[in-house]
Amino acid sequence: IHEDERVEAMLKELEEEFMVSDEKMRDIIKEFHQEMDNGLKGKESSLPMIPSYVTKRPTGKEKGSYLALDLGGTNLRVCLVQLKGDSTFDMEQMKYPIPAEAKASTLFEFIADCVEKFLFLHKVPVDPSLGYVPCGFTFSFPVNQTGIKRGNLVMWNKGFSVPNAVGRDVVNMTQDAFMRHHLRVKIVALVNDTVGSLMTSGYSFPNAQMGIIFGTGTNACYWEKASKIEKYNGDDKDSIDEMVINMEWGAFDNALKLLPYTPYDNKLNRKSPNFGLQSYEKMISGMYLGEVARNALLWMIDRRALFGGRSSTELNTGYGFDTSYVSTIVADESADLEEVRVVIELSLNIPETTLKDRQTVKRVCRLVGDRAKKLSAAAMCAVLLWRPELLDSEEGVSVGIDGSMYQFYPEFEESLIEESKKFLGEERASRLKLVLSKDGSGVGAAIVAMIATN
Ligand code: ADP
Repeated sequence: IHEDERVEAMLKELEEEFMVSDEKMRDIIKEFHQEMDNGLKGKESSLPMIPSYVTKRPTGKEKGSYLALDLGGTNLRVCLVQLKGDSTFDMEQMKYPIPAEAKASTLFEFIADCVEKFLFLHKVPVDPSLGYVPCGFTFSFPVNQTGIKRGNLVMWNKGFSVPNAVGRDVVNMTQDAFMRHHLRVKIVALVNDTVGSLMTSGYSFPNAQMGIIFGTGTNACYWEKASKIEKYNGDDKDSIDEMVINMEWGAFDNALKLLPYTPYDNKLNRKSPNFGLQSYEKMISGMYLGEVARNALLWMIDRRALFGGRSSTELNTGYGFDTSYVSTIVADESADLEEVRVVIELSLNIPETTLKDRQTVKRVCRLVGDRAKKLSAAAMCAVLLWRPELLDSEEGVSVGIDGSMYQFYPEFEESLIEESKKFLGEERASRLKLVLSKDGSGVGAAIVAMIATN
């Protein structure tokens, strides 16, 4: 009994540390607005608020055949997208795992190789009126965009290190490789993956206002009124009504002032190669949730409050507890927590567990996941409340969302909806529609390519 009480007290302590109160949510929304405002004005802000140069909404009537490239962290996807003009599309795609050699040096050759193979395999025709295949390029690394098809690489992350690339134009480097391979492909648009997600939902839902990724990382973009983007100085400044802004919201609160940082977050942050950066992302996204949970579980193990004090090589290894385990564990509703047992005993190699152990692990995982859900909702609500008139309109607002956290984490979508009722009000929340923009980066890149060439 005494032992049970001790474990319970520790869990209570974790509960308090991971709690995000409604009041905290309101503070976060307020701070988001302040930082959005600063970022748009070009003042110091944790939100970079990057102009995307995308200024026209899709109508659904777009038609034509476009190549789309999607360079993520692990795969290059090459897609041929057929926009059919009736808000629907067909897509053929191939996924090419990016080899270590490409990540370290030969990336642009590798991209050209894959595109060459794809064009051959799918017999992609050159547009006779253009003399080339138009291509949209989704590039999920930080880019300082200077035009719809221009942008300089700010830095590599996700394990990439191709030399002589930082500071140079990403489209030029890729286009040069295409030339060396004699490919008649022209990149006409450089697109962030969140923008792809927004454009994809916009193709089917004219009221799409925001695109979000809850995947390896997290980020969002939205339609902003041109008059609000004070820092934008493009030639078209006076003729455009609105533009998509890439928020890079994973960086929110990099000054570490507002979020509920626990010792488990601080440990992750100190050991990460990007200490003090991507603060919001570290509490929300797939890359990090498992690691925060692992740190909290080790705290209990080290105090013999879990597994009789035993750990394993897997649990002792940084990032050895994948976020997909957190999902599986939280989803297990069975009385004896059989799925939880499989994860802990088979995947994590803890020889045997008691029901009490499994219940404890589930509670810890739920705390980490619940916090991620709340913070995700706070960020989404902040952006929606930035332009409340859209929520008040009859058409309402659609949000295009992609990523494994949104797709697979238990009740992630339900939580976004429940929280938005609280912070937007029932009435406005009833006019909010969340849509999965699956493979949005491919289709979205094709749509931006279409808009850019017409
Ligand atoms: P990306 O953002 O790189 O395009 P994904 O959206 O597939 O790719 O996200 C991959 C991330 O999602 C990885 O960090 C992985 O740990 C995490 N993940 C994979 N499966 C799940 C799951 N079932 N629940 C939650 N997170 C998951």
